[in-house]
Amino acid sequence: MGDKVTGVMVYYYFVCKRKLWFFCHQINMESENEDVILGKILDDNNYQKDDKHINIDDVINIDFIREEKELHEVKKSRVLEEAGVWQLKYYLYYLQKRGVVDLKGKIDYPLLKKTMKIELYDKDIKEIERIIEEISVIKRAELPPALLESKVCRKCAYFDLCFV
Ligand code: SF4
Repeated sequence: MGDKVTGVMVYYYFVCKRKLWFFCHQINMESENEDVILGKILDDNNYQKDDKHINIDDVINIDFIREEKELHEVKKSRVLEEAGVWQLKYYLYYLQKRGVVDLKGKIDYPLLKKTMKIELYDKDIKEIERIIEEISVIKRAELPPALLESKVCRKCAYFDLCFV
């Protein structure tokens, strides 16, 4: 995975830093997770008409672009909203760094029939650069960060690894 910081890593940074470490060390248990399966089903059924999964440099994986200059990220619920917001801001940041400016983002919650507009502000750029730095430190660590023990754990793909 090298030094790349991907959108998923930014997402996990906010969900759980231990999860981020497992993910970065290629311990992948996601295929068995119900949420991931649901995500795939949503993906297949809800947005057939849109461009899907635009992959840029293997760093960001945008669910689709519906209208010109608008990135969309599909989420199932608003439970981990902050993580989704920063994931999308990171996409906007990453593209801006590569000269793609004036983009806007939207998080879609198809099960809730809601959307949320996301923009990248100047103050976000400093914060994203701090987050990137911290993700790199977590990735390089030899051991995973301490157990989080939160309500997130019950639905986490790494639950068995942490608690059994
Ligand atoms: S089970 Fe909990 S502590 Fe372990 S990786 Fe998942 S969210 Fe983090």
